[in-house]
Amino acid sequence: MRIFDLHCDTLDTLAHHDVDLFAQMPVAPGDDIARNQLALSLDRMRATADWCQCYAVWVPDALPAQVPSQLQFYRDVRDFFRQQMEAHADEVTQLRDARDVDAVLATGKVAALLTVEGASPVGDDLGVVDEWADDGVKMVTLTWNGKNSIASGHDTQDGFSSFGREAVRALEDRKIVVDVSHLNDVGFWELMDFARRPVAVSHSNSRALCSHLRNLTDDMFRAVRDGGGIVGLNYFRGFVSERCVSCGWEVPADGEVSPDELFAHLDRWLDLDGADVIALGSDFDGCECPAWLDSCEKLGGLERMAVERYGQELADKLFFGNARAFFVRNETA
Ligand SMILES: [Zn+2]
Repeated sequence: MRIFDLHCDTLDTLAHHDVDLFAQMPVAPGDDIARNQLALSLDRMRATADWCQCYAVWVPDALPAQVPSQLQFYRDVRDFFRQQMEAHADEVTQLRDARDVDAVLATGKVAALLTVEGASPVGDDLGVVDEWADDGVKMVTLTWNGKNSIASGHDTQDGFSSFGREAVRALEDRKIVVDVSHLNDVGFWELMDFARRPVAVSHSNSRALCSHLRNLTDDMFRAVRDGGGIVGLNYFRGFVSERCVSCGWEVPADGEVSPDELFAHLDRWLDLDGADVIALGSDFDGCECPAWLDSCEKLGGLERMAVERYGQELADKLFFGNARAFFVRNETA
């Protein structure tokens, strides 16, 4: 089995486990990217599949008191990522060019893409985009839930600033994929007008099935599809089932979110000609997933269900092939 996952929050959870924000996560002293009790660990990923993982540096809208700036927050987690890549070089390799993915996986290692969730570290300085490119950042989620200097998440109705449009141009120029998960509807449609390169929706679901604003309307999905983009399925209960829109992290009172409820999102997108567009965007270690899909070793069960439903060839595209093709196109286009 091969897995290409567009989003997780494992880095922050490990790097900042002493900060309140992450206090509820099961991190013990000495845990690292290779061995831990979280959803993603290199040892269990490698035992499960040939695994390509986007590791996000999530930059929260409200910083922990001990961190002086959003840029410093990014650099701290990036430094943790680098240190982990070095410490576990026999188990993982940072993928700086997506065309190398097959070669990395052939060595039995995890291929790790560094990404950023929340572009607030840019502030008013496009030089940060150059720093990201030099760091090997392959994708940037423009906003988190609130507003930053570029655009705004679903907490407000604001669109792009003129600086934000320049920032998108700078990201595109450096072939850093622009990710619209978290971006509000106003910003989404503005971006569809001025983006020059395909966009990613790294971890969002179908709003037709679950009305949360973090999810995509059918028209949004079609726009991403027509632009050559990619969309990653999020396992978070609150974005999967309408029963969970208000229950957030909890198991809904009338029972756990089912595989059929999750697969309904894929069915919907396949009906919208999404066979080349759909990928995985687990949101592991940043959300509560259904109990049957709350850890990397459970992807085998998900794959078996997908093969039963769609056949091996289509399942392979959804779990790996589409995301691989998207990032390879991004290197060459
Ligand atoms: Zn997110």
